[in-house]
Amino acid sequence: MKNGPRVLVVEDEPAIAELVCVNLRHNGFQPVWAEDGVAAQRELDAVLPDAILLDWMLPGQSGLSLARKWRNDPRTKGIPILMLTARGDEPDKVAGLDAGADDYITKPFSTQELLARIRAVLRRRAPEQVNDQAAAGELVLDAATHRVSWRGQALKLGPTEFKLLHYLMKHPERVHSRSQLLDKVWGDHVFIEERTVDVHVKRLREALGGAGAMIETVRGAGYRFAVDYGAAA
Ligand code: CA
Repeated sequence: MKNGPRVLVVEDEPAIAELVCVNLRHNGFQPVWAEDGVAAQRELDAVLPDAILLDWMLPGQSGLSLARKWRNDPRTKGIPILMLTARGDEPDKVAGLDAGADDYITKPFSTQELLARIRAVLRRRAPEQVNDQAAAGELVLDAATHRVSWRGQALKLGPTEFKLLHYLMKHPERVHSRSQLLDKVWGDHVFIEERTVDVHVKRLREALGGAGAMIETVRGAGYRFAVDYGAAA
């Protein structure tokens, strides 16, 4: 499950960060560790995660002010934030939720509780990404397990190719321009060139093998996912 949801873990205590990351990885997530707000911002500028686990007490900017900042930034405002706090008292929880956190979890927490909370925020924010299936002919994509198969054979797709295929399968027979795909699949394209779309489409076609021809190039316009091909092939 290499393509699981990407979780940015912002935590300054290495022991806790390691424990959380090991458990996340073991359960199919892709954790990325940042030890403070500066490192976390660097990660966010590079790749947007599916969720953020944010420690309350951090050196430099506090988790609370980071949550507020990311919630007010159009690039990051849609990313679920789960706050980790050592204090369990009510005013802090309320402050965290006011700042834009989707949920909070009080240390010490059990792995099961943490995983359940992360899955819950992912479900609430992006239902399509967590529990969803798409099929076209014999090409099947299962968003819950991040698996794709063609004629019963499992295919290996990178995370971006997976998202791209998911979007195309959900919106078949339509022509999508490169900039529309950047908007819908990458979420924002501040740092991404349109040519990047072509690179990922090429990789996706290669990964799909026999089903690759379902992704048609529409000259001068963009790309289309053609279901008919799958039905006929
Ligand atoms: Ca801390």
